[in-house]
Amino acid sequence: MMEQKDDALLLRALPFSDSSLILHLLTKNHGRISLMARGARRTKSPYRASLMPLHHLNIRWREPRTGSMGTLIEVQRLKPLLQEQKMLAGQTLLAKASILFPDGVHAGFNELWNALHTLSHRPEDSGVAAAIWSMMLDAGWVGDFEHCWQCSEMIHLSEVMFWKHSHLCCVTCAQHQGLTVSSGCRKSFRNHLTNSNIQLADSYTNIWNEMIRSSFSAHQIKHN
Ligand SMILES: [Zn+2]
Repeated sequence: MMEQKDDALLLRALPFSDSSLILHLLTKNHGRISLMARGARRTKSPYRASLMPLHHLNIRWREPRTGSMGTLIEVQRLKPLLQEQKMLAGQTLLAKASILFPDGVHAGFNELWNALHTLSHRPEDSGVAAAIWSMMLDAGWVGDFEHCWQCSEMIHLSEVMFWKHSHLCCVTCAQHQGLTVSSGCRKSFRNHLTNSNIQLADSYTNIWNEMIRSSFSAHQIKHN
């Protein structure tokens, strides 16, 4: 059976039997994988201290003879990717990344890595929104702030747009319905994604969170 080695980010660890864990990981070169970590829940397991979410991990595993789940052989915990006080916010990112980059998708590692970087360089509230939005962009869920996502028309940043049916729409397409996304709001979102020195007003952060929330719930309805 072939052994593999890769950089990885732990999405989640689910208990399996009395002593083991099933791990969901995003790897740099192997996409999303699931691994069995045998004995990982035992007090003396060497995995206990190293299997940490929101850390850069280096893992070694054995590929399965059949099926899709390999077996973890070794894990090295490298650096933490978030400050201690942002670890809880980081969990929100992991949950979203797990939905955006499901099994079978080859992407995810770099996208989550960059999102964690985005969060670590911004205030927690607006940083979570910016980080999740950056992954949604990478996953192809959302478009940019300069075009109507319905008619593709370029809309100058000085104009108002509307958030309607989980799409950012021009005035014509939205027929003045939906959540108003002002010119200032669009400019701030765009700048906040790339520039860590932009302060986002609470009201803008709330609008952004509503856009994210409705996108995820629309996606859930589509796939259930
Ligand atoms: Zn339009």
